[in-house]
Amino acid sequence: MSLLTVGSVAFDAIETPFGKTDKIIGGAGTYISISSSFFKKPVNVVAVVGDDFPEEYIKTLENQGVNTDGLQVKEGEKTFFWAGKYHNDMNSRDTLVTELNVLEHFDPVVPANYQDAQYVMLGNLSPQVQSTVIERLENRPKLVVMDTMNFWMDIAWDDLMKTISMVDVLSVNDEEARQLSKEYSLRKAAKKIMAMGPKYLIIKKGEHGALLFHEDKIFSAPALPLEEVFDPTGAGDTFAGGFIGYLAKTDDISFDNMKKAVIYGSAMASFCVEKFGTERLLEMTEADLEARVKEFEELTVF
Ligand code: AMP
Repeated sequence: MSLLTVGSVAFDAIETPFGKTDKIIGGAGTYISISSSFFKKPVNVVAVVGDDFPEEYIKTLENQGVNTDGLQVKEGEKTFFWAGKYHNDMNSRDTLVTELNVLEHFDPVVPANYQDAQYVMLGNLSPQVQSTVIERLENRPKLVVMDTMNFWMDIAWDDLMKTISMVDVLSVNDEEARQLSKEYSLRKAAKKIMAMGPKYLIIKKGEHGALLFHEDKIFSAPALPLEEVFDPTGAGDTFAGGFIGYLAKTDDISFDNMKKAVIYGSAMASFCVEKFGTERLLEMTEADLEARVKEFEELTVF
């Protein structure tokens, strides 16, 4: 079942209590694509970068099984740049810089060889671009999952509401769920958000795991307590990539299978945070993943 992902492909500069990076490869689209490529190849990515984006980074994606036919390289423009700084507890971070650059006027093109997309992951990007991608698909995919963030709630509320109404699954963190619903209780928040359109809602709680909501059902996935947490950047996107990748691979969108997809997403995210940027994702193996999924199982079985 073919998989299409959209999202920022970026330069990130990250500061955590353990160190600092210069501009490294980042972006929601990057993390999602690398993560989902563990489950499903090719991953057909739709994104845009400037001509300052190194060829070597594009090769990194291709080596993972990411098809970059839908990655536009804009001459004379600069790649999206984001800088963030984590506090001591690593659960909260400040965004220091968001330079949209080439994302400001991004007109997503869906290549003809992506038109059979059955599983679509709309990663963090302007909601207007996210909905354009859905509109440019000739057929309605089997499952559309969307991720977003507070940035878009602050500046593009109406576009966001429109896009949310078009998707099957929405994935946000707890703080964003509260902002979106204006409810503190995550249970109430989930009800309100599902009334906006999505039949399923995932609420990510950082190092405390994730919740999956559907109708009156709730599934709670743990997060594995890790010895090493170096950099949480991209964990949410890596989770989303694992979630959709697992569903695309198994081609089963039942609630029970979505629970498994949440565990696989959580396992992928647990690798992401162990090193800076995409480093750990690029070196891990499928055997590492299976071993970690077992650890998740052992963590909660009683
Ligand atoms: P996460 O840690 O999962 O929330 O995602 C971090 C990634 O999101 C970084 O790699 C950033 O490049 C990307 N990002 C941050 N802000 C935005 C934004 N406004 N639009 C698109 N991508 C963003």
